[in-house]
Amino acid sequence: MTALMLVSACLNIMLGGALLLLWAQEKHKDYVRDWGWSWMLLGLGLTLGPIMQDWLEPGPLRNLQALLAASALMASQGFQTAGALRYRERRVYLPLALGLFILSVLLIGSLGMRNMRSAIIAGAAVLSLMCLFSGWLIWQHGHRFERWVAMGFVALAAVHVSGPLLDEQARSVITYSIGIFVQTTLSLGLILLSVRRAHAQARQQGERFTRLAEFSLQGLVVMRHHRLLYANPAALAIFGVTEMPSEDLDLMELAVPPEQQDAARMRHGRVLADRNAHIEWESHRLNREGHTVHLQCLSSQVEWDGIPAELIVMINDSSRYEAAEALRRQALHDDLTELPNRNHAVARLQALCRPGATPFTLLSADLDRFQLVNETLGHEAGDALLRAIARRFLRQLPPTAELARLGEDQFVIIGTEAGDTIAAQALAEQLLALLSTPFSVAGAELFMHLSIGVALFPQDGRDAATLLRAADSAMHRAKATAGASWLFFDATMKQAAQARLEVEQALGRALSAGEFLLEYQPKFSAGNRQLCGFEALVRWERPERGRVSPAQFIPAAERTGQIKALGELIIRMACSQLRDWEQQLGGALPVAVNVSPLQFEDPLFAERLLEQLREFQLPPGRFEVEITETAAIGHVDRVLPQLALLHDAGVPIALDDFGTGQSSLTMLRQLPIAAMKLDRSLITPLPASDAGAIVQAACVLGRSLELEIVAEGVETYAQAAAAEALGCTQLQGFLLGRPLPVTSATLLLEQALKAAP
Ligand code: C2E
Ligand code: MG
Ligand code: MG
Repeated sequence: MTALMLVSACLNIMLGGALLLLWAQEKHKDYVRDWGWSWMLLGLGLTLGPIMQDWLEPGPLRNLQALLAASALMASQGFQTAGALRYRERRVYLPLALGLFILSVLLIGSLGMRNMRSAIIAGAAVLSLMCLFSGWLIWQHGHRFERWVAMGFVALAAVHVSGPLLDEQARSVITYSIGIFVQTTLSLGLILLSVRRAHAQARQQGERFTRLAEFSLQGLVVMRHHRLLYANPAALAIFGVTEMPSEDLDLMELAVPPEQQDAARMRHGRVLADRNAHIEWESHRLNREGHTVHLQCLSSQVEWDGIPAELIVMINDSSRYEAAEALRRQALHDDLTELPNRNHAVARLQALCRPGATPFTLLSADLDRFQLVNETLGHEAGDALLRAIARRFLRQLPPTAELARLGEDQFVIIGTEAGDTIAAQALAEQLLALLSTPFSVAGAELFMHLSIGVALFPQDGRDAATLLRAADSAMHRAKATAGASWLFFDATMKQAAQARLEVEQALGRALSAGEFLLEYQPKFSAGNRQLCGFEALVRWERPERGRVSPAQFIPAAERTGQIKALGELIIRMACSQLRDWEQQLGGALPVAVNVSPLQFEDPLFAERLLEQLREFQLPPGRFEVEITETAAIGHVDRVLPQLALLHDAGVPIALDDFGTGQSSLTMLRQLPIAAMKLDRSLITPLPASDAGAIVQAACVLGRSLELEIVAEGVETYAQAAAAEALGCTQLQGFLLGRPLPVTSATLLLEQALKAAP
């Protein structure tokens, strides 16, 4: 009997141990732990109770032993019930459980001191009730197997009840034998119950994760050594496939562009080596159609079939990336020619202008007279021409020459392999040679010319802005220098640029300090050589520096926008002088004032001018407007309506410097002009016959349009005579009169008025 009990106790302890080991695998499963302790305590209770009971003589020690045995059994049953409660996800109130336990032990202990039999009955009752309670918990909503286990609890309750029924001391062999069987079976049942639940939960969790992965919008890919182990539908969709590709396929060769393979291998190695690796990366991959998809990814380690693998969570970022790319492109690209634009060129130059960087060349190339193409053939033709030029440059310049369009008709070329003057010169010549064949645009064959400025890094500028300025200065100088298509930047240009800057700065002060005055150059009628009017020419009397030529400061005023204020001042001064003459001399002759095209940017310019004439009470014919030929043609949209307004009001308009630009004859007819002034360059060579032919042709044209034809810059008698003979109707020049200060001009006018009939 004792041997049987011993076996039973050992078995219970072993089963309890098995349950505790099971719990150690998944420590959040408290009910497994409770049942483990329950069976351990059962083994202890049996050992202390029935097994060791006869080893002690009756007395206090034996009573203590009985109490300890009963406590162990009660605790065992307590843990069993707690396990059942926790299995059913009910809370166990520890203080309550502990209180009940102490109460039962005290009750049974005190009963045992007086009457052992009643203590045994009470113990059996408490144990079987707890068994029944546990059975009821497991039975409720239980599946078949759980109900079998619940029956096991009921059977155990029956065993507890059978104890005092079959034997006074509850020591019946039947109770013990059946008890061993029932407890062992029940503990096995509980082990199986725990394992079953663990499996069900694992399966459920697996299913949940599978569903999450299957319906995730993020792509999930598991791979190991370039082999694909798993890809969710979102990942398959990113790559344009519907079925999981074979595991044998090498992903690296299939989807990773060659230049990214090294990075992919390194990342894979890092992830497999480090459990906690979290690597965020962005890249592009090729999909099945060979299109590029832009991905945002996070790589980490995952255990797959017990071995580490790389889990890649990916988002198809193509649309955002493409939008950002489009914005970037827009910011850095010229839509018309598809070339990089100014921003791009500046950024590139900044990158190249590092201290100690390799020398290179910057060419600034500007088309000559491009505006004329726009005006005569239309803007579409102008655009087509720019595109054709860009295409030709791109195709025929060496790949080391980087091309960009800065705006309008200006291009820059960065010659990264042309760091010395010889290579730079070769590049400029090459560029010019590309224009030797004409461009077919809008049905016309156009020969275009470039003016190129060449600047070298680092000697001409150590930063992007300085270098660009240097190349631009050289380009402008090339444009202004007859016969020069390209020029190197040199120090004099820098000085000229500094001087320009200085003048620009001083202009503002000069305007408010009233440093400007007008001189009046007389004009004479051809033939009788009588005074017929004046041209007002502005002068800047700079304190301590003397007189500054308008050729210097008018362009500066135009660059800085100060021409508007200066132009208004000049008109006021001319009007006021005319009024003075009218008042002093009782009459006057017309005064012509030069008007810059930029003054016409003000749409109210003409109206304001007429307003001033009224204010000074001048008849409109007294005041003439001179505009240059290129200005009139180059800004036709803006200028023409205002000229028409002035013309209609009776203000004569003269086309200045005729012969220096490229006037189209149709344009000339459209302009509401009263006079054309032949530029000095046409008059100086007179009376040479070829020069005469040009002047004569111009005069024929002028006469047919009923215009006054003014010969400018007449310096010799021969020129004056030739100009008259060829048909010029007025003469202006140093021979007959230099620009005069007011007093001299007044005297001249006074004489002329007196002499007039
Ligand atoms: P422009 O309108 O063609 O003026 C004629 C220029 O030729 C004047 O030079 C005049 O002094 C010069 N000139 C006249 N006769 C002769 C000659 O026989 N021989 C030589 N060598 N030169 C002669 P200036 O005063 O230096 O003016 C230069 C230019 O500056 C003018 O050319 C005009 O385009 C501009 N300018 C002058 N005053 C004004 C003004 O008040 N407003 C604007 N917007 N521009 C002005
Ligand atoms: Mg003039
Ligand atoms: Mg002129």
